[in-house]
Amino acid sequence: MLSLYESLKKIYNVNDAVLRRLEISSDDCKDIFNDIDRKIELNQLKVLKSFYDNDISDYHLNGSTGYGYGDSGRDALERVFASIFEGERALVRSQIVSGTHAIAIGLFGNLQDGDELIIATDTPYDTLLKVIGSKEAPAPGTVRAHGVRCLEIPLRENNKIDLEALDKKITSQTKMVYFQRSQGYAWRPSFKISDLKKAISYIKKNHPNVICMVDNCYGEFVEEQEPLSAGADLIAGSLIKNPGGGLALSGGYLVGKTELIENAANRLTAPGIGLEVGASFNFNRSAFQGIFLSPSVVGEALKGAVLAARLFSSLGFEVQPLYQEFRTDIVQAIKLGHPDLMIAFCQGLQKACPLDAKASPEPSFLPGYEHQVIMAGGTYIQGSSIELSADGPIRPPYIIYVQGGMSLSHIKIGLALAADKVILKGF
Ligand SMILES: *Cc1c(COP(=O)(O)O)cnc(C)c1O
Repeated sequence: MLSLYESLKKIYNVNDAVLRRLEISSDDCKDIFNDIDRKIELNQLKVLKSFYDNDISDYHLNGSTGYGYGDSGRDALERVFASIFEGERALVRSQIVSGTHAIAIGLFGNLQDGDELIIATDTPYDTLLKVIGSKEAPAPGTVRAHGVRCLEIPLRENNKIDLEALDKKITSQTKMVYFQRSQGYAWRPSFKISDLKKAISYIKKNHPNVICMVDNCYGEFVEEQEPLSAGADLIAGSLIKNPGGGLALSGGYLVGKTELIENAANRLTAPGIGLEVGASFNFNRSAFQGIFLSPSVVGEALKGAVLAARLFSSLGFEVQPLYQEFRTDIVQAIKLGHPDLMIAFCQGLQKACPLDAKASPEPSFLPGYEHQVIMAGGTYIQGSSIELSADGPIRPPYIIYVQGGMSLSHIKIGLALAADKVILKGF
């Protein structure tokens, strides 16, 4: 039987040096993969316990139409999310169109004219900048245009949250402090649950009523704890990332204190109808099966991220995080240093995607983003980034962000083809 490496040579003529390094890198990662397996088991147990406690049955998988009154599947799905993520209540809907939308309704639902929002983790993710609006001339409909004062606290030089600065800036007007767990399109470590816990307890000591909200995108099931158990009041994320397990057809979620969730629901639908409406059509089945599989899918994606870090650092690129470092999200950043290498990486990865493998990704402008973005991902769910995908804004220092992949074997093949194209480009 040929090995994977010999077959990659035979079928795709992948560069020998790439294959040799891929083989060595895979061996180097074995112990880390075992640690990841242990974490998968613990998170799988947590998910199963919440299915057991909520007595999930096949009738919960059916959907509703029209107003969606009394949709028992939808309501049970929200109880399952609330118990997994350790909140009082959850809002989990296909009508939440993305992670940005989930975060936006958390903000708009809970902030009013005259309130102040402090962003504790420096400049937020690109699409959130558009939600908040510019300081000088906020566009209509943005958080700032609603009369909410917003400020960002830069990180300290060591990329830690600046707790003293944060404490100084909080006033009686401060309604919410916002944290972004994952690095987003930045070159810095993501914030671990222990980092969030430290910052939130620091804030709550003097300001117990300030709402602490966490953008939990890409973080679900990476650690054994989630931000609500670290003291956060509200979290939000996307169902076409980790907690959808690659199966949820669309959607977003929020989990947290009942009042905060009700406020977000009133913003998603309308005051007075809040959480009680919203037809689920055929969403429930995919969302239940997605959250059930999510711990193991996230585990595979994590192994792929570790392997990507090992492989590309052995090829001479800077990576963030390093392969052996503690992780709190599934994203692997690789500093490629040149736009052509970002394009080459994506074109190589695309060849290993199950759909549109013959497409050739090119940079383009996307709604919500300031710069041109390059993306690879022939995914079953459009734009899904718990499926194997890579993306990044075309701006210095030209970093590609790789994430997802529902099986390590798929990710491994994708990385081989991506590395091959990058090497061919003449690095
Ligand atoms: C993906 C992501 C979001 C939301 O993005 P959508 O594409 O709208 O789902 C927000 N914050 C971070 C850090 C993200 O990675």
